[in-house]
Amino acid sequence: DIESSGGSLQLNHCPTICFHQVSFAYVQGEPVLSNLDLTIAPGEFVALVGPTGSGKSTIAQLLKGYYQANSGHIQLDQHLISHYQTDGLRKAITLVDQKPFIMQASVRQNLLLDLVHPDDAQLHHVLAQVELAPWLASLPQGLDTSIDNNSPLLTLGQKQLLCFARALLQNSSVIILDEASASLDPASEQAIQRVIAQLRGKVSLLVIAHKLSNIKMADKIAVLQQGVLMQQGKHADL
Ligand code: ATP
Ligand code: MG
Repeated sequence: DIESSGGSLQLNHCPTICFHQVSFAYVQGEPVLSNLDLTIAPGEFVALVGPTGSGKSTIAQLLKGYYQANSGHIQLDQHLISHYQTDGLRKAITLVDQKPFIMQASVRQNLLLDLVHPDDAQLHHVLAQVELAPWLASLPQGLDTSIDNNSPLLTLGQKQLLCFARALLQNSSVIILDEASASLDPASEQAIQRVIAQLRGKVSLLVIAHKLSNIKMADKIAVLQQGVLMQQGKHADL
């Protein structure tokens, strides 16, 4: 259940996420988002599409609390996101980034971050869930193998799958997938789609999509153009 007392956040249920008239600029005078209204209901799968530079990733950055809206507000259930402590917010909301961040550390440390409880059996389990079991088996030292952002041991797609595994371990109730605009290896691409299908309805999903084929399953598609939400609806309606 949501625990928002004192601003700490332990989400095991999916919150209602609400952007209300959110405007934002990285640089004054150069608006990136303008009066954005967007709601993600608990367990909903919302897809966000729009041309490059339209502000899609910025929406994810604001939701993670990396930047603050210039006007309007973002709420999780009944509270403004500024009410929550940053670390709780960032665990509850996992961002599988366009450019995923892999620490220079072992696979195990990359999965656990600051968690202490999960044992290796659980790590193997989540890696299997994200279809990285064969990859793990191919590593010279298994979970102890050292990796980093530039490691040839991981493709971009596999990095994204590793981030999904983190999300599963953290029990994140909101997962944002910012699809890579670069093409992924086909195996990872398909694995990501199957992971999304598995998670559907269990967590709230915001998928920033480049390929329309990937979002047919979405409950709602939001179309962004130059920071303005142009349309919202089901695939069939757009
Ligand atoms: P893409 O499809 O290429 O990923 P996007 O829709 O995710 O694009 P954003 O990354 O949200 O677009 O960028 C929106 C606008 O904000 C762009 O004009 C971009 O140049 C600008 N921008 C993004 N990040 C920053 C930043 N950290 N500082 C300044 N401007 C930024
Ligand atoms: Mg982007």
